[in-house]
Amino acid sequence: MIEIKSLHFSYGEREILRDINLEIKKGEIFGLLGPNGAGKSTLILHLNGILKPKKGEILVDGLNPVENPREVRKKVGIVFQDPNDQLFSPTVFEDVAFGPYNLGLRGKELEEKVYEALKVVGMESYADREIKHLSFGEKKRIAIATVLAMDPEILVFDEPFANLDFRGKEQVRTLIEQFRGEKTIILASHEAEYLTLCDRIALIDKGQIIKVGTPEDILGDVELLKAHNLEVPPLIE
Ligand code: ADP
Ligand code: MG
Ligand code: MG
Repeated sequence: MIEIKSLHFSYGEREILRDINLEIKKGEIFGLLGPNGAGKSTLILHLNGILKPKKGEILVDGLNPVENPREVRKKVGIVFQDPNDQLFSPTVFEDVAFGPYNLGLRGKELEEKVYEALKVVGMESYADREIKHLSFGEKKRIAIATVLAMDPEILVFDEPFANLDFRGKEQVRTLIEQFRGEKTIILASHEAEYLTLCDRIALIDKGQIIKVGTPEDILGDVELLKAHNLEVPPLIE
């Protein structure tokens, strides 16, 4: 479903991604584990054509995101690390309605779509609330709802656990678990302990894929994690 072939990317002279090769299957929960600055966010921005490879290519269901941005952006929904990058309207309802409105939904259909998305994240009662008065964790869940409301087949989460307290992290983890078997999920995080739910994980560092394997292969390899400045999950160490 997603093929990344010999992908290279640089900002100016600075090489950021070097020869990335990955295949992510339909329905998989796929983890991208790597320390800060590894290139996870940069790779994610290639999935819907925001960034363009310097060499190599990405195919989403056979479509190149750079050549087919409209089709690919319908399939791939990205939840950014900072929900403030995703929320632009004064109220929760307006923010969640923005995507499906642009896809042509109106009236009752639009309203149903918004409430359906809010229900998934447990925030139905927040429809009329003002965004600026929400906590970071609440904004995070609303940002997820804005993406869900567009019915993407592929959901990409960039550091979904960052800046959340323990309860917030658990809520997001449970939420992601809910999509198992329903959506293809890509989960980028530097927090190894939150990637145990993945079917497969790619360890990425300094713009290169170091190893791809099951959670046991990657998270269970204490030396590997330490070598890449990653915290070892407490239950494994
Ligand atoms: P990660 O998400 O794994 O923390 P990023 O993809 O954000 O890593 O960053 C990879 C590298 O690219 C880092 O060295 C970062 O400083 C650099 N980088 C990210 N965005 C830009 C940019 N807009 N211009 C120049 N360098 C950037
Ligand atoms: Mg980072
Ligand atoms: Mg990042």
